Amino acid sequence: MNRAISKYAVGAAALVCTCTAGIAYADDIRIINANIITMDESNPVANSMVISGNRIVSVGNSGRRGENGQGRMKVINARGGVVIPGLIDQHLHFNRSAITWGYAIHDAEGAYTKAELLAAIAARAADPEVPPGAFLSLIGRHVGEQFGGGYPTIAELDAVSGDHPVILLQRWLPVPNPAREFGDFNMALSAGPGQVNTLARDFFNGPGIALGIAADGSLTPDTTGTNEAIYAWTRARNPIEEQIRSTLDLQRWAHSVGLVGIGESGGGGFRQSQDFRALAQADTDGDLKLRIRFQVRPLDAPGTSGQTRIERLANVMSAAPLAETETCVPNNEISGEGFQISRHGGPFYKVMGLGEFFTAPVTPLISEAVVYILRRHDWSFHQHAEAEQIASVIQGLEDAVAATALDPCAIGASFAERHNSLDHLNDATDDDFERMAAIDVGAGIQAVRFLFPDWEFSGPPYRAAFDAQRDHGLHVGCGADGMFAGHGNPWTTLQFMVTGEAFDGTQLLANDPLSAPGGPFPGGRASDQRATLMEGLQCYTKGSAWFTREEHERGQVKAGFLADVVILDRSPLNGDEHSIRETKAAVTIVDGEIVYTDGSLTDRGRGRGHDDDDD
Ligand SMILES: [Zn+2]
Repeated sequence: MNRAISKYAVGAAALVCTCTAGIAYADDIRIINANIITMDESNPVANSMVISGNRIVSVGNSGRRGENGQGRMKVINARGGVVIPGLIDQHLHFNRSAITWGYAIHDAEGAYTKAELLAAIAARAADPEVPPGAFLSLIGRHVGEQFGGGYPTIAELDAVSGDHPVILLQRWLPVPNPAREFGDFNMALSAGPGQVNTLARDFFNGPGIALGIAADGSLTPDTTGTNEAIYAWTRARNPIEEQIRSTLDLQRWAHSVGLVGIGESGGGGFRQSQDFRALAQADTDGDLKLRIRFQVRPLDAPGTSGQTRIERLANVMSAAPLAETETCVPNNEISGEGFQISRHGGPFYKVMGLGEFFTAPVTPLISEAVVYILRRHDWSFHQHAEAEQIASVIQGLEDAVAATALDPCAIGASFAERHNSLDHLNDATDDDFERMAAIDVGAGIQAVRFLFPDWEFSGPPYRAAFDAQRDHGLHVGCGADGMFAGHGNPWTTLQFMVTGEAFDGTQLLANDPLSAPGGPFPGGRASDQRATLMEGLQCYTKGSAWFTREEHERGQVKAGFLADVVILDRSPLNGDEHSIRETKAAVTIVDGEIVYTDGSLTDRGRGRGHDDDDD
């Protein structure tokens, strides 16, 4: 239990007391003098709580030391601080960012001027955790325009980066799609613009690599040229040890902003059996302290070129033809990949089902895919759906509900019990959400438009989703959809949800064009799609927990629930709504362990179990 904190923390101080009052577990943690927002409707606020092992055992309002305690335990005095259930991003591409090249400049994701970006690079260059000469990188997680209109020059980067090569690379860029295949307004390049400093330019232009970066270090958006070549080169040469190191580094950043769980949405072109090795190894080593629930995406497996997505799905689900045997679908794993796809993983790493493009958003293919999934006893599906796709996908789901009711091969949990979802849902109307609620399909809403305000969709439809939650019982989960197509910070998403303002101040949500007179759906949903921070926090906790079928033990501060809680470093509920994105964790607890502390409430060097001589 002590490994995680001892790995992360150095220093010494004593703001934590150990109180001895009888028989107890040394592992117990009591949090007192807290403003606990529990998300538990039966007990919405409290000021103290007790954790024993990996569970919350009591949530109360005494604040008196000893009332719940049976003995020695670590006491954290929250000093009036806000405590919330740990945040769960329902749809994030964490792993793609975790295994990228170099030492990630995490703070650069939240930089919105050139000066802030350069300060973040300078700080990372001076970080004692970064070895001399190591690459500093921001790959994905940003849009180049956010830094006061564009990237710094090569000279400006050189001035702050010391002996470190620096690479800044936007990994996602919407482009028009005149053909509107499957109703998509937009397609996307996976290589946006970028910028490198002199050391990085000379490295990539050097012997044996020779990628031909321009003298000024700028990288222009394209799919076949230098930008993509750099990414492919680094990805092919990033050793597993570095992938594990950067995965744990990103985990630490996640803990610092209060993230404790992630619906991992994989990636197009992602090598499922290779690119999750770092996560799997970190879990095997006992170092993974984020609850990763990943979605298998049946894309680009070896030998599948030319196949449709539904054919690839069949490959994933089983080598057997559909419904031709007594048992219909044998419980095979992915042929040749050696990859465990059972839902029954460990507490930190397991499959949640299929996503986010398991098939094209076309009615008969959606129905067929759902029938497949219901022949596995425990999988759910999570399907990308935007704009004109939404109606087709919902129709496919409704057809599938009718079909699977008659399917002799359907096994295990029913359609409703799978907790399936549609994701993104930009341009969804009130009617769409009501239809989804009627068949228990959840709505996962993400914030990609925060970085891409010119995207042709409207939304995200926060107000419509939360109103459908209240009126029709719709399940709603929230996420960022980073870290290639967007940021990863939940507080950036929450600020966007509250203010409606994109990174550049563009107001996207207050005057929703979808439902305006003359818009595509006049009156189709409320004209103001903004939400409150409390709605957003509920969405990021209790709401998101439903999507992994863990709402019975995650997402609330409640006795019996898993001890995943965060003490915030400020109260975002009382401050300027434009400062919400600056919120961080003071203390993050996952599975009953202090996995992160900023040192303000607990000392950095002493995790639980180290407190025997402390008083
Ligand atoms: Zn996504």
